[in-house]
Amino acid sequence: MSLANGRQYLAIPGPSVVPDAVLQAMHRPSPNIYEGALPDMVAGMIPDLAAVARTKGQVAIYICNGHGTWEAALANTVAPGETVLVPATGRFGHGWADMAEGLGIETQILDFGRAAPIDPDAVRAALAADTGQKIKAVLAVHVDTSSSVRSDIAALRAVLDDLGHPALLMADCIASLACDRFEMDAWGVDVVITGSQKGLMVPPGLGFVFFSNKAAEARRAMPRVSRYWDWGPRADPEMFYQYFNGTAPTHHLYGLRVALDMIHEEGIEAVWARHEALAGAIWAACDVWSDGGPLTLNIADPAFRSHAVTSLRLGAPLGAALRRWTEEQTGVTLGIGLGMSEPDDPKGTGFFRFGHMGHVNAPMILGLLGVVEAGLDALDIPHGKGGVSAAARQLASVVRDASPKTVKVA
Ligand SMILES: *Cc1c(COP(=O)(O)O)cnc(C)c1O
Repeated sequence: MSLANGRQYLAIPGPSVVPDAVLQAMHRPSPNIYEGALPDMVAGMIPDLAAVARTKGQVAIYICNGHGTWEAALANTVAPGETVLVPATGRFGHGWADMAEGLGIETQILDFGRAAPIDPDAVRAALAADTGQKIKAVLAVHVDTSSSVRSDIAALRAVLDDLGHPALLMADCIASLACDRFEMDAWGVDVVITGSQKGLMVPPGLGFVFFSNKAAEARRAMPRVSRYWDWGPRADPEMFYQYFNGTAPTHHLYGLRVALDMIHEEGIEAVWARHEALAGAIWAACDVWSDGGPLTLNIADPAFRSHAVTSLRLGAPLGAALRRWTEEQTGVTLGIGLGMSEPDDPKGTGFFRFGHMGHVNAPMILGLLGVVEAGLDALDIPHGKGGVSAAARQLASVVRDASPKTVKVA
C-alpha cells in the first residue's frame, strides 16, 4: 500500500507549486519572437510586475535563477574594487557577498548568525564608521530562506537617511516577493531582486531586477557594465529583442502573464494576508508539537518569522528521517536544512523546512501539517498532541476576525 499515490506535493521553499493555469498557459507552440502577440504581452506585463514589487521604478528581466540576479544587481552598480556592506543572516547573505567577491568587489560582512534578523544598530555602527563613504551599497536579504528569518528593510533605509550615507540599499526578495509584505518605494529600496520560482509561481528561469532612479544614476556612473547584465536596454528597449538581450524566454513569459493575473485578481494585500494566515497556522501546530518533544521553530520571535518559509529543527537523525517518511509514505516533499551544520551534525540533517510560498491554500497547509503529524507519530518522535487541531483553530479565528458578520449560527 502507498499513501503517496495521487498528486505529489513539493513543499520546499522553491521551486514552489506551479498553478495548473500557469502550466496550461506554457503548453503551446512556439510563438514568433519578433512581432505580434508576445512583444505586446511583455510590454503590458511590466507595470504589473512593478505593482507586485510596489514600485514606480524600472525592471529588467533576465533568463536566469536567483544567483543571476545577485550578479546582475551588482554588475550595474558596483565596480571592481569598490565596497559593499553585507548584513548577513542565515545562508543567503553570504551567498550574495560571495557573488560580489567574484566580481572583484570588496565585502564587509556583518554576520547575525542563523536564528536572528539583521540588527539595524549594527548596520548603523558600520555605516557611521565609514567616514570616507567607501561603502557603495548595502546588500540585505529580506527573507533568508535557510533560517526563515525576516529582516526589517525599512529600518535600514532609516539608518542610511539618519546618517546621510549615500549607499544604495539593495534587497534580495527572492523568497519573499508576493508572500511577505514588501514595499520597494515606500521603504526606500534602490534595487530589488527576485526570481520566478517562488512567490511568483512560475518554474525557475526568470530573474527580475527592479531599480530606482538613484540606482539608474549609479549605473550611468559606472565605468563599464558587462553587456549581458546591463539593465539599461532591458528596462528601456528600442526593440523587443533587447528586453532579453537575445531570444525571449517565450513559454515562461506566458506562464508569468497568468501568474500575474492571479496575483492581481486576488490583490497583493490579500496575497500577503493569505500567507500570513497560513504561516500562523503552521506556527500554531509547531508550538503544540514542540511542547513535549525535540521540535523547535528556528526563529523564536514570530515578529521576525517569514510568512513564506519555516525552518525547523528536530535534531539528527530525526529531521532527515521525517523528510524521508513524508516523501515516501505520503508524497509530500519537505525542504532540507540549508547551511545549518552543527558540531555533531555537519550536514545539518537535523533541520528541515516547509515552503509555503505562492500557490498554497488552507487545505494544502492543513494537509502538509497532517502528514508531518502522522510522520512524528509513525517515527515515535515525542511531540505534543493536537498540532493540526491547533492549526485549524488558528485559521478559523483568522477567518472569523476578518469577516465577523458573515457567519451566523442560530
Ligand atoms: C532561492 C533564493 C536564492 C537563490 O535563488 P536560485 O534561483 O536558487 O539561484 C537567493 N536568495 C534567496 C533569499 C532565496 O530564497
